[in-house]
Amino acid sequence: MAKGENASELEAVAVEETSSKKKETVEEKLLEIEDLPGVSDATASKLREAGYDTVEAIAFSMPSELVEVCGIGEATAAKAINAARATMDMGFETGTDVLHRRENIEKITTGSNELDALLGGGIETQAITEAFGKFGSGKSQIGFQLCVNIQMPKDQGGAEAGAMFIDTEGTFRPERIAQIALAKNLNPEQVLSNILVARAYNSDHQMLLLDKAEEEIKKGAIKLIVVDSITSAFRSDYMGRGQLAERQMKLNKHIHTLLKFADKYNVAVYITNQVMDNPGILFGDPTTPIGGHILAHTSTYRLYLRRSKETRRIAKLVDSPNMPDGEAIFNVTEKGIGD
Ligand code: ADP
Ligand code: MG
Repeated sequence: MAKGENASELEAVAVEETSSKKKETVEEKLLEIEDLPGVSDATASKLREAGYDTVEAIAFSMPSELVEVCGIGEATAAKAINAARATMDMGFETGTDVLHRRENIEKITTGSNELDALLGGGIETQAITEAFGKFGSGKSQIGFQLCVNIQMPKDQGGAEAGAMFIDTEGTFRPERIAQIALAKNLNPEQVLSNILVARAYNSDHQMLLLDKAEEEIKKGAIKLIVVDSITSAFRSDYMGRGQLAERQMKLNKHIHTLLKFADKYNVAVYITNQVMDNPGILFGDPTTPIGGHILAHTSTYRLYLRRSKETRRIAKLVDSPNMPDGEAIFNVTEKGIGD
């Protein structure tokens, strides 16, 4: 990996610290800005053009900012902001409410008992599980396996539901999924027919695909979204140092859309991420995931995958809110993920 790339990647962390603080507490809702009372279509399109394309973005803005950036009048701006704020539930809920919501969480087996145990029983709905690691560490294979496992009966670690797979690296392989399905005694054709796949050609396309995905997810037949990988398109589309703030802003939006779907529709989200060598780390493993704080803060579970001998892989759980950090060993074989 080129040194320059790493330097700008590290800079992303610094850029984020200054530019994304105010966004961190934003909780997204699915109301469109066109739905806001008092916002005309003309105003909505000016807001959209300037990047204020969500209700939250407007709710957290200042009238003077909208006047300057979107070229709308002060009164119009104030009206839009008030309307946006009124739609947002900016209050509290009880711990009991949170507990009830969490009671709907389902866990999907990864195929490895050890890896499941590390994650507290498998990958969860209402959460984002991120796997980062070098090429060949097993990130995509886990994604394929989950697409099969999600379809299994609940008492076998599935959710009796379908999956959606956003492939940004061109590495989705239906043949491999068929092989994994066969190893589970499932009908490969039927399994493949329950997976919706889209190839994203760049980061804008990737974001658009996710926006469109909601129509499908709403129907309730999908319980897993895989994005493999979350960062590569953003990385190649925003190479210059001057573009880092924009890249992080877009990535932030993308990941929050995923989080919103996870919560709202009780789906599991599995994303993969590339790594770079961080020359600033003098002791220990210098391997660092791409995406800076934005991914670190938004992913609920982060797994660092490493290759060991032959088919063996080591997964390390980092920064979990409710599970101890630890390691698991699993295998990637012809049959898929196993112990
Ligand atoms: P990445 O982390 O880059 O996404 P993958 O998850 O695709 O990597 O892992 C690729 C590795 O998975 C291969 O190097 C190989 O070890 C293993 N693998 C992939 N397909 C098979 C298969 N059909 N049989 C056995 N092992 C496989
Ligand atoms: Mg891969």
